[in-house]
Amino acid sequence: MSTPAHRARLVLALRSAGIMDTLALSAIENVPRELFVPDAFQDRAYEDTALPIGYGQTLSQPLVVATMIQSLALSGREKLLEVGTGSGYHAAILSHLCRRVYTIERHRPLLADAQTRFDVLGLSKVVTMAGDGIKGWPEQAPFDRISVTAAGDAPPQQLLDQLKVGGIMIMPVGRQSRVQQLVRFRRTEDGIESEPLMDVRFVPLLPGVAEAAEA
Ligand code: SAH
Repeated sequence: MSTPAHRARLVLALRSAGIMDTLALSAIENVPRELFVPDAFQDRAYEDTALPIGYGQTLSQPLVVATMIQSLALSGREKLLEVGTGSGYHAAILSHLCRRVYTIERHRPLLADAQTRFDVLGLSKVVTMAGDGIKGWPEQAPFDRISVTAAGDAPPQQLLDQLKVGGIMIMPVGRQSRVQQLVRFRRTEDGIESEPLMDVRFVPLLPGVAEAAEA
């Protein structure tokens, strides 16, 4: 089941869970999550739950996506970098809320599928690259915002270096075997400020481009 009514119900659930950012909520309402979910999980596309997307990766829970987006305090003018395209769902929502979204994925087949979805939906503000997002995207830096959707032990220095002064980066931080924390980093004139937001569980941020054997 996947209709506008299901999307509206999901948005109501997010609102009652404390998401107040009306622009973020309407962007979520406008993106058909069923297009990003494998056939086997179509009936669960609008549950507030994480879902597998292949290659051992997951499409994040809508409440976590919404919390991350709300924490980025977007005005619509930002140049944003996403690390971990996955299905492309999170980037599709961000594309309605930013000037441009640059997104990097280390699994080429996942990126190809995400690119097809962006094309089908006409999301021309999303620019994709297969690569190691830990290194960021130096040719396009600096960024106003960075959204990392895989967990690492610490924020990669190369990503913090590609953030503008006044810019915000959101990333899950912690070890795989433990509960991780979603942390908001803000670059100031004096350095980096950090603020924990909520407990989360994400797949790991891994170095390099995935080899076929990893699939
Ligand atoms: N944002 C995605 C969910 C991401 S799951 C969505 O909306 O569907 C995390 C993704 O990060 C996985 O697809 C994984 O392959 C990717 N990833 C992990 N380490 C990475 C790295 N160093 N560079 C780029 N992508 C990475």
